[in-house]
Amino acid sequence: MNKQRPEYISVSQVNAYQRCGIQYYFSYIEGIKTLPNDNMLRGTAIDTSANVHFSEKAINEVGVTQNNFVDMAVAKHDEESDDTNFQENTKDESRDKTANASKTYHSVHGQVLKPKPGDTNPTQVEIYEDIGDNLTLKGYVDLITDDNVIVDTKVRKADKQIDVETNLQLQTYATILDSDKVGIASVTTAKEPKATYYGGVSNDITKKRAIQRIKSVSTAIDSNIFLPAQEGSWVCSEKFCGYWNMCDFGAKRK
Ligand code: SF4
Repeated sequence: MNKQRPEYISVSQVNAYQRCGIQYYFSYIEGIKTLPNDNMLRGTAIDTSANVHFSEKAINEVGVTQNNFVDMAVAKHDEESDDTNFQENTKDESRDKTANASKTYHSVHGQVLKPKPGDTNPTQVEIYEDIGDNLTLKGYVDLITDDNVIVDTKVRKADKQIDVETNLQLQTYATILDSDKVGIASVTTAKEPKATYYGGVSNDITKKRAIQRIKSVSTAIDSNIFLPAQEGSWVCSEKFCGYWNMCDFGAKRK
């Protein structure tokens, strides 16, 4: 294992490593990428519309119309569908879910959330920061609001409670941007989509915990520790692991 890890660390890398060290190794050290699934595609599509909407809303206080919001999400969905692994829904079903959930997102979060006004775009804000111990953190914040809340958009199958105070992404970005409030604008892709906002704080304790976690994972990567996911966990299955056929703990173990 003498290949190089990426020159920066990101929250996605840390989350990937914590799901399964071997998945991290295949993806970030060997550079073997797998196709995103249709759940991820719906998230990307709605994120794209939300970015455009809030960028415009920061300037004109209105944003884009609901029809435009839905059209942009559907266009993004179709544009990326050839590079998607449709696991749970067909392309047509997935497109319908995207359109439905976009409508709900726009009518709730799109109206309630107020992006930070000014010359700097408050969506997809790039972070590239030295966090000490020779580590550079890279990431993108979905949205910064007018009262300096760090907000992430989440598109999910069902509406389950989210504890934003332990959310690594939000707490890390709140640390870098010195914000004391974080939130998740969630929308589900159920038949009747539900939009829920989960808000909370970011304080010295939650911030310290997030940075410590990133540094611990980074140390483990530097030490070439790549542990397999727990046997029997949902992630370690043919359906959910794109490396199933090449991993010693996947298809080959039988
Ligand atoms: S098969 Fe299991 S152990 Fe192997 S990479 Fe996938 S999740 Fe990890």
